[in-house]
Amino acid sequence: MELKYEKKDVYNNLNEDEKIETNKYAIDYIDFLNKGKTEYLCVEEVLKILSENGFEDINLKTNLNVGDKVYFINKEKSIFATVIGKDNLAQGLNIIGGHIDSPRLDLKPMPLVERANIALLKTQYYGGIKKYQWLSIPLAMHGVIYNENGEKINISIGEDDDFCFTIADLLPHLAKDQMKANANEFIDPEKMSVILGNIKQKDVKKDAVKSNILKILNEKYGIKEIDFSRSDISFVPSFKAKFIGLDRSMIGGYGQDDRVCSYATIRAMVDASKEELNLQKTIVAMIVDKEEIGSTGNTSMSSLAFDMFLNKLIEKTNSKVDRLEVYYNSKMLSADVTAGVNPDYPEVSDLPNANIIGSGVAIEKYGGGSGKSYASEASAKFMSHVMRIFDKNNVIYQMGTLGKIGKGGGGTIAYILADKGVDVVDCGTAVLAMHSPFEVTSKYDVYMTYLAYKAFFKN
Ligand code: MN
Ligand code: MN
Repeated sequence: MELKYEKKDVYNNLNEDEKIETNKYAIDYIDFLNKGKTEYLCVEEVLKILSENGFEDINLKTNLNVGDKVYFINKEKSIFATVIGKDNLAQGLNIIGGHIDSPRLDLKPMPLVERANIALLKTQYYGGIKKYQWLSIPLAMHGVIYNENGEKINISIGEDDDFCFTIADLLPHLAKDQMKANANEFIDPEKMSVILGNIKQKDVKKDAVKSNILKILNEKYGIKEIDFSRSDISFVPSFKAKFIGLDRSMIGGYGQDDRVCSYATIRAMVDASKEELNLQKTIVAMIVDKEEIGSTGNTSMSSLAFDMFLNKLIEKTNSKVDRLEVYYNSKMLSADVTAGVNPDYPEVSDLPNANIIGSGVAIEKYGGGSGKSYASEASAKFMSHVMRIFDKNNVIYQMGTLGKIGKGGGGTIAYILADKGVDVVDCGTAVLAMHSPFEVTSKYDVYMTYLAYKAFFKN
């Protein structure tokens, strides 16, 4: 009998069929990353997957019965989906929740300026970024803007076009003073302006380049400068997600935190409902927004929108149960990424308690900072519940904390549901270079995340 615990290597524990499945899944996931570069676009992609698989808008249903599949879209940026199970809702839900917002550069409300014959858009960064990583890389522009008549215009440019955008970093030759500043300060966030154009409109005396850009925007989209103040427009890396390595074992791409877990949640829900027509528990996928800035606002997990969705479920299934009791008896995986050990920086990780990429889906018993401050910790009993499900279903998993005590910390949506009485644990994919424009995951961990979620939904 083996008493010692050793991490498992996913690749060498898969059979040939499973390796083929891993690749297929990875290709679909890469496609999702390339299409879902903002929360708006992710909601559209998720909606496509759900609609193709028989899910309907909950508002179109008066009654819900076992096997029914419904969704609710929360203000275009967040989505909840559910499959009704055999148990009464009073016995709790099996919930998996991830987030689809990722660090990026948003526009300021009045962003358009001209300097040195260059038209620029002023940005404000969103989420925790190392600012220097976002300079001098190709950027794409995505979002929505409303014109004076209240018409919505979708903007998605710089991906497959023959042009994109960028922020010009300072050349090293003239960066002597800049290089003396500490890393927190050496990029001034007010100097992260996206280059839009350089041609002057003829016979215009002041800001002629800006005038020309406004002319192009008006011809293409029918918008005026003031319309930027009624827009949600973001700049994100325009390069495509790709396999990484000679062995193609990894995936590189923007926004894997947390689209890797969000995609797995949706795929797991769809496939669980196909494999088992009548699931025991009602299963719920929550794909939310605004996690990266602390889960604030009406599209975040903190909003009461999910409570409203739950009220609809209770009413339409005729469950006659208090919402608090549903929460109290529910179980949840908080589907979010965690840190993998960076081979160049092992000193920030406590190796026995850290995630090695390629060793399976990562379970994080607690997050938070030093002294477990603000941590939402899973109980021993709930850890046992989750590990037993994974063991029975050949899910390869590993136990990791984010890093060494005192090296920093990070949050997820786990605490928000825990506060409502749900048993919840963080469980997701380990990532290298998290929050960078090009994050890295193991494709085997990515697939194991999906298998883990599917097993959790079915048990
Ligand atoms: Mn995250
Ligand atoms: Mn994050």
